[in-house]
Amino acid sequence: MKAHATTAPQPIEFIDLAAQRRRLGGRIDAAINAVINHNRFILGPEVQRLERALAEFCGAKHVLGVSNGTDALLLALRAKGVTAGDAVLLPAFTFTATAEVICLAGATPVFVDVLPDSFNMDPQSLKSGIVTARANGLRPVAAIVVDLFGQPADYDALEPIARENGLWILADAAQSFGAAYRGRKVGRIGTIATTSFFPAKPLGCYGDGGAVFADDAELAAVIDSLRVHGKGTDKYDNVRIGMNARLDTLQAAILLEKLAIFPEELIARERIAQRYGERLAGLVQVPRLIDGATSVWAQYTVVTRGRDALAASLKAAGIPTAIYYPRPLHRQTAYAHFPVAGNGVPVSERLSAEVLSLPMHAYLDEAIQDRIIDAVRVGLRA
Ligand SMILES: *Cc1c(COP(=O)(O)O)cnc(C)c1O
Repeated sequence: MKAHATTAPQPIEFIDLAAQRRRLGGRIDAAINAVINHNRFILGPEVQRLERALAEFCGAKHVLGVSNGTDALLLALRAKGVTAGDAVLLPAFTFTATAEVICLAGATPVFVDVLPDSFNMDPQSLKSGIVTARANGLRPVAAIVVDLFGQPADYDALEPIARENGLWILADAAQSFGAAYRGRKVGRIGTIATTSFFPAKPLGCYGDGGAVFADDAELAAVIDSLRVHGKGTDKYDNVRIGMNARLDTLQAAILLEKLAIFPEELIARERIAQRYGERLAGLVQVPRLIDGATSVWAQYTVVTRGRDALAASLKAAGIPTAIYYPRPLHRQTAYAHFPVAGNGVPVSERLSAEVLSLPMHAYLDEAIQDRIIDAVRVGLRA
């Protein structure tokens, strides 16, 4: 036996961007250099190339690169004319940006509950939220449906309710780009879909970025105008009040390289999620995919009563975890005065106390995953 000192175990990353960087190697540097050399930093040729590549990837007719996932949502609401007096329904269990944009558009968010096993919008609660909105003297006009943790919501159940009530659907696909639902790829679901290229998302850039997807050409043209100060024939012809919400050329160049390996990364993510599922089932509530859905596993989120003790035990074992989200939005100071569907959103409240996201990325190897799984077993026994 070798007489060397025991070495500290390899540190575990929650999301290992360095591993992806090592894989991409010189390609990212070359892509960045090309932009630095051609100097077209705003809406340069890589932005259009990325928009075409994303359209090809998901089948959407029109794709617009934008500044981030939050602006993408706001552009969508503004393009559809959402305004004061309108109610927009959304899940209470989501990231704050989903609610924020509704208020920025001048409309009122109405919080809806989610389902306990998919974490996505509960169709019955959507129905009840529409009634609540009307009872509050608001016009329900749209629902922002979030594909939480990378899995599309149950659109076949949600769309008829939206249609019967005259609502259009904005799919907040910030976490789910790359996933599919019953033959439809994310980006083609909803009147408008949006995504985020925040570095920690499954397809992330090296800064802020996002995209808007639409099949309707007129709507896409309005969003294109809105992202450049409401431009008409050019940016010094202003036909509407717009924003500065463009995607940087540099980020588009980086994303083109990352998109090239994205399908392989999605296969790796699926394999890792399967392995977590097999080994953790029965110990904690593991995520379940709804019939006909795939996930890009933006997060691998388990549910357990002893969440805080488990998180502390994992931390002591050197394993990073995260809580998405520790407080449902209707309990946030900024949103506490807005309406909540019907009899409340009990599932969102329970989940915020019981969810825990484990390290998840395409470069998580089996040895490290086994350390995580063993530490969960130990943590639950304590
Ligand atoms: C990340 C995220 C956003 C916002 O995206 P940014 O690019 O950070 O602005 C919106 N909605 C959801 C559900 C998200 O996860």
